[in-house]
Amino acid sequence: MAARPGTPEQTTAPICVVCNSNHGEAAARACTRCADELRDQLIHLARIAGELEVTVARQSRTGRGCGDSGDPLPVNLAASYDADAVVNVITTWAREVARGRGLPSPTAGEPERGALADVARWLADQVDWMRRQPDAAEAFDELDDACHLAVRVVDRGTARWYAGPCGAGCEQDLYAQPGALTVVCPKCRASHDAIARKQWLLGAAQDTVAWAGLIAAAIAALGLPCTRSQIAGWAHRGRLAVRGVDQAGRVLYRVGDVIALAQDSQRKQEQERERGIAGKHRSHFSRRG
Ligand SMILES: [Zn+2]
Ligand SMILES: [Zn+2]
Repeated sequence: MAARPGTPEQTTAPICVVCNSNHGEAAARACTRCADELRDQLIHLARIAGELEVTVARQSRTGRGCGDSGDPLPVNLAASYDADAVVNVITTWAREVARGRGLPSPTAGEPERGALADVARWLADQVDWMRRQPDAAEAFDELDDACHLAVRVVDRGTARWYAGPCGAGCEQDLYAQPGALTVVCPKCRASHDAIARKQWLLGAAQDTVAWAGLIAAAIAALGLPCTRSQIAGWAHRGRLAVRGVDQAGRVLYRVGDVIALAQDSQRKQEQERERGIAGKHRSHFSRRG
């Protein structure tokens, strides 16, 4: 935000820069209804920030090749450029607003990705101030986009997955869409078999331990359906061993154990589906083969 406290606020007409309604408030650029909407969106973003965190967890990667013993988590590869973009927009505007108002920045210190929820909540409280600033249109537009993008990333469930470094003399990290058959390196244009990469990543991840949400998101992104509640259920029924607890107090599981159970569950579901279809059609069709 360019304005300083006390900057005279100028508007030519009391027209909302977001919805174009005549709000009759000479000192404001955006109307209260649009401000309320943005505030709600930011609060919602704060609520789903934890889900988004899963997709940005690849930030903890060491940058070395997958499977290196020092690599904290080869499967934290359910990564998403989109989630990064959300964090960037939110933190950038938070810093701008803090500067404009002379407040301590909620993003002070390291770029705290885990703090997205806090920053979004802080920003929600600033919306009424923001709607009176000269760059309200830009702020509302970008923040609205970021909030929608976050919802899409979380809704999509499987974000773009990290497909490992390109290799062969090229250090570029590769990311692929969930259903992609090939991954093309944006730097050297080399083409890689996406299926083979997925298998390699699932294999490389076997002995890693991680918390349920991260494992679920990561292996789902690699094409194996799995949810956090499924993992909790397996642990509860004694099918999945707990391997430790991390600093945040989250229970850790071995990725390979979860993959085996998820594959087992997927097989069973497919069998049930086949039986279901066969049962439904039995009265009409004779079974093939
Ligand atoms: Zn409006
Ligand atoms: Zn390359």
